[in-house]
Amino acid sequence: MTVKEILHVLKADNSEALFAQAREIRNSVFGNEVFQRGVVEFSNRCRKNCHYCGLRCCNGQVERYSLDADSILSAARCAIDAGLGTVVLQSGDDKSLDPGFIGKIVQSIKAYADVSVTLCLGDHDRDTYKYWRDCGADRYLLKMETFNSELHARLRPGQSVSERLARLETLCSLGYEAGSGLITGLPGMTPEILAEDLWRLSLLPLDMIAVGPFIPHPDTPLGRFWAGSLEETLRATSLVRIMNSKVNIPATSALDALVANGREQGLEAGANVVMPSVTPESVRSEYSIYPGKNSSVDSVLKNVVQMQRRLKIAGFHPSSTRGQSPLRTTKD
Ligand code: SAM
Ligand code: SF4
Repeated sequence: MTVKEILHVLKADNSEALFAQAREIRNSVFGNEVFQRGVVEFSNRCRKNCHYCGLRCCNGQVERYSLDADSILSAARCAIDAGLGTVVLQSGDDKSLDPGFIGKIVQSIKAYADVSVTLCLGDHDRDTYKYWRDCGADRYLLKMETFNSELHARLRPGQSVSERLARLETLCSLGYEAGSGLITGLPGMTPEILAEDLWRLSLLPLDMIAVGPFIPHPDTPLGRFWAGSLEETLRATSLVRIMNSKVNIPATSALDALVANGREQGLEAGANVVMPSVTPESVRSEYSIYPGKNSSVDSVLKNVVQMQRRLKIAGFHPSSTRGQSPLRTTKD
């Protein structure tokens, strides 16, 4: 699709027909299987100052934490034992992060079970990405957030589209299954910018594409702005599916922050992945990217079982496979 065509679809009235088209493509590739990734949010320390994020370094209201190796591994094991085929290690851009620490965690998870490990640890140099890949990490998630240079630089001080893109290219060249994505409804984002962002994402050799709505956090400079629209995010999700039939698309947890059944709606619009938090309940609420994130106080196991129950009620089958994108399996 051209940017003009994407924009036309984004602005059209009939969402149901769009969702049905995307759902049909999703069903033809994945059936009713939904891949499950357990996310261990092991540190909320961040040296960056993204205007939209509650973890930004200037937010003094956050109680900062970093989990030790035993706590991370026991959360990962719990997720694996509950039937999740991928463990995601996520954190802020923690300047105290020791690459060797992450390398050992990756090796321990891979030694425990035949699962995939995804890293979502922000910006690092090529040698560090390579070292983690050599330790067995399979995937890396690095969202572009927006490709619009002016908006990107404004909302992500000191960072640029070209640097982020170069990192994504490095990750691909190292053999990671790469994921990226956007935040819809960021203050200053127009439908024209979103259309261009969706087009640019679809040109990249990605295995995973995530589209989640902006949720305002009161302790950030964007705390007084409106949240992204559910409708627009779902339409963007459907467009991603239509342009990238085989890519993995998560129904993001930010959708749940907008409405109680947000993730189910994401799946109905063409997504095929869920990423429940498996962060220990003692620190989970401190991973406060935005309000409503990690509001559950349940144990890790209960959180996962609850997500699986939701999937079954909505007519989906929670898959225990590693959930590689079929793009990758056919390439290999
Ligand atoms: N620090 C790493 C990074 O930025 O790539 C990984 C962790 S960061 C918390 C994960 C994602 O949270 C970001 O890529 C961004 O899309 C999302 N995020 C942060 N603040 C958000 C907000 N207010 N609304 C929606 N998504 C948000
Ligand atoms: Fe840090 Fe990531 Fe939040 Fe930016 S989005 S402030 S890099 S945790």
